[in-house]
Amino acid sequence: MQDRNWSEFVAACSACTRCELAATRRNVVVWRGAVVAPLLIVGEGPGASEDEQGLPFVGRSGELLDTALTAQGLDPSTYHICNIVKCRPPGNRQPTPAEAEACRPWLRRQLQYAGSRVILLLGATALRYFTGETVGITKVRGIWRESRGYWIMPSYHPAYLLRDRRQREPFWQDLTAVRAKLEELGGIPPLPTGEAPDAAAF
Ligand code: SF4
Repeated sequence: MQDRNWSEFVAACSACTRCELAATRRNVVVWRGAVVAPLLIVGEGPGASEDEQGLPFVGRSGELLDTALTAQGLDPSTYHICNIVKCRPPGNRQPTPAEAEACRPWLRRQLQYAGSRVILLLGATALRYFTGETVGITKVRGIWRESRGYWIMPSYHPAYLLRDRRQREPFWQDLTAVRAKLEELGGIPPLPTGEAPDAAAF
């Protein structure tokens, strides 16, 4: 039966056994941030910390992501964070096409609830499974895609930024473009006069 509200949706996700990841997960990781938000942020899949806590992006990658979002003046009421798959792939491997496909209806429904028009895809795996594009993330990050009223920005996964600090600058540029698009679409108010995103804090 189709869920009638967000609570029913989360409960349905939590009981899901549509793919083999159900067998090894500890928690189904649905979202964090606001349920309804102008910005949807999509990663690859839960890692160990996320599986344990039942929340996406709560490990070191998540801390770095939060630092960047806060430095851009984006608080949790402005974003909804989730992943391509809601259950942890063992050993942090990439989700298989079958797993991503099995989880796709949940993500589609989640986007309906979130009502976001701006979507930030973190990493090549999120890009591939969200858009079908198989190009390297380095080639396409920072370039908007517009599809059916959605504005989609591919960028680096924060885990990559932890491994290579030099990539924080392009990631920051992408996040700056996302912030500008949110303002342009009326999803968030502009910063007060005289204030600017705090690049130094990231
Ligand atoms: S990853 Fe998605 S489709 Fe697979 S069991 Fe978890 S919630 Fe269901």
